[in-house]
Amino acid sequence: MSKVLRLHHFEPASRANGPGLRAVIWVQGCTLGCPGCFNPLTHPRKGGFDCDPDTAAQWVLDARQHGIEGVTISGGEPLQQLASVTRLVKLIKENSDLSVLLFSGFSWEEIQKIPRIDALLTHIDVLLAGRYRQEERVASGLLGSANKTVHLLTPRYTLADLLAVPEAEITIAPDGEIHLSGINPLEM
Ligand code: SF4
Repeated sequence: MSKVLRLHHFEPASRANGPGLRAVIWVQGCTLGCPGCFNPLTHPRKGGFDCDPDTAAQWVLDARQHGIEGVTISGGEPLQQLASVTRLVKLIKENSDLSVLLFSGFSWEEIQKIPRIDALLTHIDVLLAGRYRQEERVASGLLGSANKTVHLLTPRYTLADLLAVPEAEITIAPDGEIHLSGINPLEM
């Protein structure tokens, strides 16, 4: 089982990546190649930086000091690092009551065929699944395009909770680095 998590970025507190205030982890690496993807910098596996899942889980647990109610795992493609992401969310769930929302470019049908996927899904509250199709762009309710599907795997959230999420957000780090995120950051 891989112990390395390849990460693109960590945000300790965001309001545009799921219900309420949430930490966000963007993994690095995606081979799915959706035309028009907003996050091409997350595609090469050689970008980003290595981290072990235990350390990343501790970052999320420490982010509770900001009042977060959960964590969002985005990318990149989280399911292409299945063992490490499973370890990450398992640690978070075992050590907190934080909710977990995960974006995947795989369809729900593809996800159900992935070996050992249940070990991950048992720790996920909300899963958003499917490729980004720019010809079906909607950019609201956490859905980049209309083909994507929402899976409320626990009773923690409703579709109304997802629709209430702001569509975009700008964060400015203490060093001045600007980070755009959310489902519709291109039209801010
Ligand atoms: S799956 Fe996600 S990160 Fe990968 S290319 Fe498609 S939209 Fe981009």
